[in-house]
Amino acid sequence: MAIMNHEKSLELFERARGLFPGGVNSPVRAFKAVGGTPVFLARGEGACVWDADGNRYTDFLGSWGPLILGHSHPAVVAAIAKAAAAGTTFGASTEREVELGEAIRAAFPSMERLRFVSSGTEATMSALRVARGATGRSKLIKIDGGYHGHADMLLAAAGSGAATLGIPGSAGVTAAAVADTIIVPFNDEAAMAAAFAANQGQVAALIIEPIPGNMGLVPPKPGYLAALRRMCDREGAVLIFDEVISGFRAGPGGAQGLFGIRPDMTCLGKIVGGGLPLGVYGGRADIMKVVAPEGPVYQAGTLSGNPLAMAAGLAVLGQIDANSYKRLESLGARLAAGVKAAIAETGVPACIQRVGSTFTIFFCAGPVTDFASAKRADSRVYADFFHGMLDRGFYLPPAQLEAAFISLAHQDTEVDSFVSATHETLAALPVLR
Ligand SMILES: *Cc1c(COP(=O)(O)O)cnc(C)c1O
Repeated sequence: MAIMNHEKSLELFERARGLFPGGVNSPVRAFKAVGGTPVFLARGEGACVWDADGNRYTDFLGSWGPLILGHSHPAVVAAIAKAAAAGTTFGASTEREVELGEAIRAAFPSMERLRFVSSGTEATMSALRVARGATGRSKLIKIDGGYHGHADMLLAAAGSGAATLGIPGSAGVTAAAVADTIIVPFNDEAAMAAAFAANQGQVAALIIEPIPGNMGLVPPKPGYLAALRRMCDREGAVLIFDEVISGFRAGPGGAQGLFGIRPDMTCLGKIVGGGLPLGVYGGRADIMKVVAPEGPVYQAGTLSGNPLAMAAGLAVLGQIDANSYKRLESLGARLAAGVKAAIAETGVPACIQRVGSTFTIFFCAGPVTDFASAKRADSRVYADFFHGMLDRGFYLPPAQLEAAFISLAHQDTEVDSFVSATHETLAALPVLR
């Protein structure tokens, strides 16, 4: 294990601290959950990133999900350059919006009508406004530990009890903003049924990551999503799948394609923007017709449908097909098998959970089935693991309850070296001494 020099990153972080809260423009980048100071990244190519001091890492963060082709894929770079040369923004409609819209609907037939926005946060925020506008109802149900971006009504934490009214999950979010948000634990059909029963005729929407990635990777139990579909049908509530991570990741048709569940609305982001800022929301035509200018629900954006984001998204979708997902599955299976063996051989209390190319190594005995069990994972042990892996040249999410990603730029060799580094790092963890 080479000793890395981080002089330039340290210097940049000092300057950044005088500019940005915590020195960062998105909180988890500050390494608070793992300690130490963040490395500043300068360049990415394929499966690798280089920091400001020239240290190289094999990247298993993938910018939190978007980079299914890895960094700087030549087709994506060329498409962005070509689009930029023809004008970066018009504030008017362009052909690429139609092309990308058609490509998305071909993959997600449930998105009969859709709209482009500029982030996942905007997609979920807008989808909820539309669901409320279409149903004329106020309440929304979200999953405990689910993350849907930082809109006020979704920054709610669970109070005590199984199906509780939300309490503000952030300073600056008023009690009124989350008064209509109901929090229910994941994978718990009975709790969901109770929440619907207690709020009959009042629930506008249930929003859920069908494969949660923001409490670490937690797969849905067999039949769970189908049960939610039935409950929403019975209650006349809009079922919103937040597939900002799982869209074009869990499979060509996202989690809804993988599990064969048709939601009423879907939110996309990350991969669909090809590494540029893009979000999408859409769904049933009869619901989406309430959106302005067709209907009374206002939602707009100066940079919506941005030509560069459209070009990047089209380039990425043009590179992936059914075989891509077979490769990602085989890389994921290889990695998980190796990590499982390393955990068994070293005796560290940990487990790996995975769906396709998305995974989390939890430092607790598995399985992790919901937010309560995810929180049993030891984040201090994860912090030691994270830094051990970073020192060995592997870049992972800088927090325990996050998902890691494999890209199509990764090969068996990168996966195998990740597994041996994991073995070494686990064996050297202070928890074993
Ligand atoms: C990342 C994420 C969002 C928010 O997307 P941003 O582009 O960061 O605003 C929403 N939902 C899920 C499931 C996400 O993982």
